[in-house]
Amino acid sequence: MSTATQQAYEVVIGLEVHTELLTNSKMFCGCANQPGAPPNTNVCPVCLGLPGALPVINQRAVELTAMTGLALNCSISEFTRFDRKNYFYPDLMKGYQISQYEYPIARNGWLEIGHNGQRRRIGIRRVHLEEDTAKLTHRVDPVTGRPYSLVDVNRAGVPLIEIVSEPDIHSAEEARLYLMELRTILQYLGVSTGNMEEGAFRCDANVSVRPVGAHELGTKVEVKNMNSFRAVFRALEYEAERQLAAVARGERIIQETRGWDETRGITVSQRTKEYAHDYRYFPEPDLPPLSLPPSWTAAIRARLPELPAARRQRFAEQYGLSAYDVELLTASRAVGDYFEDVVRHFNRPKMVANWMTGEFFRLLNAENLDISQARITPAGLAELLALIEQGTISSRAAKDVFERMFRTGEPAARVVEDMGLTQISDAAALERLVDEAIAANPKSVADYRAGKTQALGFLVGQVMKASRGKANPGLVNALLRARLDSGE
Ligand code: ADP
Ligand code: ZN
Ligand code: MG
Repeated sequence: MSTATQQAYEVVIGLEVHTELLTNSKMFCGCANQPGAPPNTNVCPVCLGLPGALPVINQRAVELTAMTGLALNCSISEFTRFDRKNYFYPDLMKGYQISQYEYPIARNGWLEIGHNGQRRRIGIRRVHLEEDTAKLTHRVDPVTGRPYSLVDVNRAGVPLIEIVSEPDIHSAEEARLYLMELRTILQYLGVSTGNMEEGAFRCDANVSVRPVGAHELGTKVEVKNMNSFRAVFRALEYEAERQLAAVARGERIIQETRGWDETRGITVSQRTKEYAHDYRYFPEPDLPPLSLPPSWTAAIRARLPELPAARRQRFAEQYGLSAYDVELLTASRAVGDYFEDVVRHFNRPKMVANWMTGEFFRLLNAENLDISQARITPAGLAELLALIEQGTISSRAAKDVFERMFRTGEPAARVVEDMGLTQISDAAALERLVDEAIAANPKSVADYRAGKTQALGFLVGQVMKASRGKANPGLVNALLRARLDSGE
């Protein structure tokens, strides 16, 4: 047996994420940035790559890239430049992609993930700006059986940033956490929708293995074609296992690109890896280099919103919420903003958190809605919670009221009135129901008096039922006890 087979190996992963920017127009022309529009409707000579057409830099895209860099704790370059990356593929209209090579907008940052109760920093190597390619759709002619491909140029020239991590990730789970955190940051910044299924957030993974304690990296395999977080996770688990098994057999890993096959659940060799020199990078002659002075960067930094990590910490401290509630309420900026808006009107953070993570999220999920699409306003929810607090309605009834407010956006008081749900907290009105319950259930009364106190719960239930849920349960309880204990 060779020593290699006895040695323990670790997995090393570096991720390259491409994300489409939420700008109005494309990267180098005035076409609308709407990749989902009817095919080939947002096109012009520049993004079609017609000879003689000249690109112009989208300033907003540069700003969004710098924001992303700052949010990822990077340094922003004072000098940055675009380069041509040359290759041939039917989705590349010009025969080259305008990208950045030696002088990316941002570099040397980090992002923190929490894993196994520990916080860990994953290095960010660079964040650069480039343009997306056209979209190919591969089909098979149902009559002839011949394959063909369709080209949609709407996506060509859409601003794209690439975020390259250091090879600091050591498991599929860490990769998943990194991607989730990165996506949340991009969403907080308003840089990207982060929608992976729609292709607005894409990830390629570089995977290698090496003996534990070794300093050099092992030969890496690049894994592509993963279209969901789950796919990334499964592909990395598979590829790590494949490489560990190979080295355990004494085999060498070869540098190659492998594609994730979702149905078979395996990675498949696609091609041996190309090298940077194959792309013949050179400075883009049609665009000026940019200088980004520190004053410009400082102005961008000053406009950054509160980021997920800071908000999580503040929510825990300021509102005393559980880690679970904090996680749910900071998952998106809109949810956190909504929560704080409700609390401004009704200062009971835990009660607000319970209602939001319970009833509210249940209905949002059931209807597959985003919180921004909900009809119930923060002030409306605050009003409803105040009615519960004052004892005007029971928590049980409030759920029905909430459901109707969720659908219609009507004010709480009106719904309560309309549904006839105002809680009966008037002792005189309840006495009659209490009397009826006692008269109708002599066995329970006898049980209670014989010391079986659980019989009280049954009697409370009977009164609640008779009131159609509107009686104030606390008051019913007190009235029943008083009557039973007095022996009348
Ligand atoms: P390339 O020139 O092939 O694009 P880079 O050095 O630019 O390679 O790295 C691309 C990505 O691959 C980065 O995320 C980096 O962290 C990761 N990476 C580089 N080498 C390895 C390796 N041996 N194992 C795992 N990931 C790696
Ligand atoms: Zn165009
Ligand atoms: Mg690279």
